[in-house]
Amino acid sequence: MNFKDLRINGQRLKSTIEELAKIGGTPGGGMHRLSLTDADKKARDLLVQWMREIQLEISIDEMGNIFGKKRGGKDDLPLVLSGSHLDTQPFGGRFDGILGVTGALEALRVLRENRMETRRTVAMVNWTDEEGTRFAPAMLGSGVWTGKFDRDWAYSRPDVQGIKFGEELERIGYRGQAPARNWPVHAYFEYHIEQGPVLEKIGKRIGVPKGILGIIWYDVWVEGKANQAGPTPMDARNDALVAAAEMVLKLNKLPGKMGGDMVTTVGEIHNSPNSRNIIPDRVRFTVDIRSWDDGLKKKAAEELEKEFAGISRRRGCPVRMEVIWDIPHTVFDPNLAQRVEKTARQLGYSGHSMVSGAGHDAAYVNQVAPTAMIFVPSMGGRSHVEVENTSWEDCEAGANVLLHCLLRSANE
Ligand SMILES: [Zn+2]
Repeated sequence: MNFKDLRINGQRLKSTIEELAKIGGTPGGGMHRLSLTDADKKARDLLVQWMREIQLEISIDEMGNIFGKKRGGKDDLPLVLSGSHLDTQPFGGRFDGILGVTGALEALRVLRENRMETRRTVAMVNWTDEEGTRFAPAMLGSGVWTGKFDRDWAYSRPDVQGIKFGEELERIGYRGQAPARNWPVHAYFEYHIEQGPVLEKIGKRIGVPKGILGIIWYDVWVEGKANQAGPTPMDARNDALVAAAEMVLKLNKLPGKMGGDMVTTVGEIHNSPNSRNIIPDRVRFTVDIRSWDDGLKKKAAEELEKEFAGISRRRGCPVRMEVIWDIPHTVFDPNLAQRVEKTARQLGYSGHSMVSGAGHDAAYVNQVAPTAMIFVPSMGGRSHVEVENTSWEDCEAGANVLLHCLLRSANE
């Protein structure tokens, strides 16, 4: 077969995604498959089985990243890599990350069944703990693989129950032998849902991100004084939750004040002792600030620390802020991005250049290898929720773009 006529099997891609959606699926039609849980192990086992079926050379590294290679004619050349992640948010969706892993698997299935030989080796990957929900920060697997994080530090990261990443990796049997160290990669393509409203709104099928917004994450602890809700007068309180509430609103107003494309979020908050008739004395919450402009993001963080200190003083509630993640904005390889755009056009799909608001493993891989992403529309712009959805036609279109980008890069 002429490789120009090659297409992925949309029906098979759909049933692969549906099979995976049964592992950790929620009654609301979403996914609850946090990193290194039993559900994650089951999904990994199934993926490995599928990879074996098409005779990929499988290797699992010390971070549990799963790689599968289909050797090229010149396998001493840097290879071409594609993948994403199988872990999900709590009550997240069926497509985030999963589409990129299954899309790469589908592309490799097509190469195998058509006996397509490539010059370079083509490989796929499932990165460990992309979401960072259970073990923060996000992208621990690709972060260690690209040398951004230390392996033992990653192993020591605890979940909310104090269980360590390394222990859980061992427990589910995915602490592999291969060193979690990057090797020469000729091109990395990550196929992903957009997770925003842009493509749907303008009626385009393939998004071509020029890069990813920079992100800073804080953990914030506010301390107050617990007391009886009845007898304690309003002017004699150090209410940690009220101080935190003021901080949340301050953060929400920050983008308007700073300008640019900044977005800010408090997505997680823990109140203690969390009783209706006790004034709260301990609150912990998260802060997420994103912007394309790294300087603006830094200024916003400084402004925030100043504002929080002021609120803390005024309310007599000591605050502690810890930066747990700070990543500059990512600029993808312009040549590879162009390849995505051109390939989409040649396959008859409309394309659109954009930026990614969401973080991806591609941000770290981009630091060690030429990288690009392929986006398809998210219905209603919804993601990290159970109703996250993308039409099967769009899933198929994006996978076709991925297949042909892989082929082009692998035959260079
Ligand atoms: Zn993702």
